[in-house]
Amino acid sequence: MTTNPKFNAKPAFLDGSVKKMLIDGRWVEAKAGRSFETFNPATGELLARVAEGDAEDVDLAVAAARRAFEGPWRSFKPNQRQNLILKLADLVSQHYEELCVLDTLDMGMPIGRSIQNRERVVGSVRYYAAQAMNIHGETIESSLDGEFFTAALKEPIGVVGAIIPWNSPLFATVKKISVALAAGCTLVLKPAEEAPLTPLRVGELCLEAGIPPGVVNIVSGFGETAGARLSAHPDVDKIAFTGSHFTGQKIIRASAVNVKKLSMELGGKSPNIIFADANLDKAVPGAAMATFNNAGQICCAGTRMYVERAIYDEFVARVAEFGSKMRVGNGLDLQTQMGPLVSTEQLTRVTDYLKIGQQEGAEAVTGGQRLTEGAFGKGNFVPPTVFRNVSDNMRIAREEIFGPVISAIPFDTVDEVVQRANDTPFGLGGGVWTRDVGKAHKVARRIRSGTVWVNAYNVMDPSVPFGGYKMSGFGREGGVHHVDEYLQTKALILNTD
Ligand code: NAP
Ligand code: MG
Repeated sequence: MTTNPKFNAKPAFLDGSVKKMLIDGRWVEAKAGRSFETFNPATGELLARVAEGDAEDVDLAVAAARRAFEGPWRSFKPNQRQNLILKLADLVSQHYEELCVLDTLDMGMPIGRSIQNRERVVGSVRYYAAQAMNIHGETIESSLDGEFFTAALKEPIGVVGAIIPWNSPLFATVKKISVALAAGCTLVLKPAEEAPLTPLRVGELCLEAGIPPGVVNIVSGFGETAGARLSAHPDVDKIAFTGSHFTGQKIIRASAVNVKKLSMELGGKSPNIIFADANLDKAVPGAAMATFNNAGQICCAGTRMYVERAIYDEFVARVAEFGSKMRVGNGLDLQTQMGPLVSTEQLTRVTDYLKIGQQEGAEAVTGGQRLTEGAFGKGNFVPPTVFRNVSDNMRIAREEIFGPVISAIPFDTVDEVVQRANDTPFGLGGGVWTRDVGKAHKVARRIRSGTVWVNAYNVMDPSVPFGGYKMSGFGREGGVHHVDEYLQTKALILNTD
């Protein structure tokens, strides 16, 4: 194992104690005294026990968030909020290696990759810090009789419930916290039960940054209890959800109780279209990593790989070869390119799809079965898998697998591939690979999804909006649009006579 001493040390955070929740600036156990276990998916080892918050704890956290919102936090000026977010960014940067180790231990992400994302993660927090001082309403020339000053003011929406998945715990946590703070909101964050450690450690950094009590609360626990209460809580003004569309639908229903504002960052089954005139030396690794990155546990993974028929055989063989050479293993090894799946449930889910694909008549050119030899047997390892002979109606071409599985599908014409790429209930990501700029532009415009990459995939910029069309959700993260999701608009009509 090639290591870096910084990544080897067991983080002091894992000191054997039950990890507590952050409510009202204090670390507390669950009221009911319960806790749950979180494991290392590469080895099956128990990492920690974590407080299992439920409805009672959520109620306390929401009350704290409300008090902070109505109280001291409301009077924080934009520059004061900006300074706090910048302080948090500094601390995240200072502890970046440790936070990456926690992500790797808790959910398997290869540290060789996450360590390169410092700028993306810290830069994103700094981006929101800047947004704190970029909140503008507008004045409106009034046509009313008499003298009026009319304006549209922007105000923070209030108490936000943020519910996140496990596939990128650090990034999801810092993004949800810093955008809420930029807008002047307070929040209660519920991490995923599979990966609660990094979010709780970020909670410690929030206190160290001087964020006042009650502004950031973190309630670890389960979706059906803590998450459901947060979604249905009458005193939560908005839910910012990232996760599957199944859960998203439940949250939308639950949130009707007080007509909450919502943003939904849901799943996808994104098309990645490879034209015969593409630079194949770039498109092969690009198309492979569009899905194999993070073991396919990426919402916008380009899992439906449409390849122009003239190059189908060659291209599929090259992507399969790329996949077969990837180093799969423990994410703490710097050489590892693909880590384990997050949990035994996810392992079962993905291996079920591998069987379904084969039963449906697809052929696994590489991969196709979980890895069990030696150390692999203790973890949840599935190798990069490429299916050929896939048709559009197969389940492996229609459903989100959330694993390292590419479905390679041939196509003949532009109109046909656009129609087939759009024949999905989802619309999160998409890719186009070609040297023809005109074709790239036309196809990109016709794909019905929130992001389309051309001759690239999975690259994110904090200033650029990210989100879904159709069942991939609504609302945007990143860019100025994101902060707006946390703001209300108030009309002010002032008679100055
Ligand atoms: P998930 O099962 O939907 O869970 C997401 C979060 O919702 C978890 O914290 C979960 O808690 C919680 N939850 C579960 N049931 C709930 C309920 N009834 N009410 C409220 N909250 C509830 O998704 P996941 O398996 O963690 O993550 C994978 C999914 O997320 C994929 O579909 C992926 O595409 C999507 N995703 C989307 C984006 C995006 O930006 N569009 C980014 C990343 C991931 P538990 O942990 O206890 O289950
Ligand atoms: Mg874990």
